Amino acid sequence: MAFEELLEDPVIQKYLHELVGPKGMPVAAAPPDGEVTDEELAEELGLELNDVRRALFILYENDLATYRRLRDEDSGWLTYLWTFQYEKIPEQLQEEMHRLLDGLEERREYERENEFYLCEHCGIRFEFGEAMEFGFECPECGNQVETMENTRLVTAMENRIEELRDELNADVDVEA
Ligand SMILES: [Zn+2]
Repeated sequence: MAFEELLEDPVIQKYLHELVGPKGMPVAAAPPDGEVTDEELAEELGLELNDVRRALFILYENDLATYRRLRDEDSGWLTYLWTFQYEKIPEQLQEEMHRLLDGLEERREYERENEFYLCEHCGIRFEFGEAMEFGFECPECGNQVETMENTRLVTAMENRIEELRDELNADVDVEA
């Protein structure tokens, strides 16, 4: 399994870190090859069982781990055997980037299509319609609101959109 290779990728490390948080990271960063129980992981990694379970559950919710239950015939106890499924990470990262890209493009359209007004005192931004409704006075402090340029924001968004598109294209090239 090429888990080790995957885990050397800083983008993937960051992705996992965002999912499970610092406490769950030892679990996420050391996926065993076969099945493993939460107790085994806790012992092996020297972690609290609850932290291990929490991390496993987050991985499960994100389709990065599965489990099967075994019932002990005598005691009736249930054991959960976990399997990590990191094969899906690159695909999921791509989906996430697509979502991010769609969101950014939508946001950029909103920024482009609207005029904005700012109360410099409160730092609150209003759409043209809102500002007009308030008679171009801030409803919080009563100061006059001023037109606000968002060209730099739109440019920053466009740069990020370009970057994301490049990254997604690069990924496609690698896979092809
Ligand atoms: Zn104000």
